[in-house]
Amino acid sequence: MPEGDTIANAATRLRPALVGREVLACRIPRWSGPLPGPGERVEAVRAVGKHLLVDFSGGLTLRTHLRMSGRWDLYPTGAPWRRRPSAARVVLEVPDWVAVCFSAPDVAVTRRDRAATGHLGPDLATGEPDLATVVARAGATADPTTTIAQLLLDQRVAAGVGNVFKSETLFLERLDPRTPVAALDPDRLRAVFDRAHRLLRANLRPGPRRTVPEGLAVYGRAGRPCRRCRTPVERFVLGDPPRSTYWCPHCQAP
Ligand SMILES: [Zn+2]
Repeated sequence: MPEGDTIANAATRLRPALVGREVLACRIPRWSGPLPGPGERVEAVRAVGKHLLVDFSGGLTLRTHLRMSGRWDLYPTGAPWRRRPSAARVVLEVPDWVAVCFSAPDVAVTRRDRAATGHLGPDLATGEPDLATVVARAGATADPTTTIAQLLLDQRVAAGVGNVFKSETLFLERLDPRTPVAALDPDRLRAVFDRAHRLLRANLRPGPRRTVPEGLAVYGRAGRPCRRCRTPVERFVLGDPPRSTYWCPHCQAP
């Protein structure tokens, strides 16, 4: 599933091929809004939380939210695509390269000032996220029954954490995922988001995700022994849409 690190890695792959290049074509099937015109250039490729943004010199921004299924591929002009063309949501052609976004459920082109990311909290995959703002947003957002597991996924509080880093962060912080946010003081909340930030940053590189030397600590390991205490890792499903949480009931006791 795309999380902040996945989006940032996609932006890193696309940037050298696209930035500064002239847009030869930008096709978005079923999109009837504005599109970059002839002669425009790509000014930037940005990862903001779970959004991948492409800025054009005419002032438009292409925004793709990849959710569970979407991905960006980059092909030399004329090379075959790894997925069927009918799954393409965006085809962006520049000299020598074609960038294709497949299966993203949420695609839009807007004026830069309305790029629809204003509702997102600080991006935890950047160098120095504003954790004071994150903690303030957490206090403003969370009702007393919100759990820390739900809060970590709330992109209005902080952008970038998905299911994998949610479970991993809470394990490393030794925190029961069902802990109500109201039970955590601001310093503890800040430490949790700082941990998520450091895990996301450490995974801004190709290859499998790693949060402990062996790989992942708990995510996807239900029934297998905790790497710290050998208690079987458990999984529960909460929320709408349902999301899995993995945790060690011994290391993360209430
Ligand atoms: Zn354990």
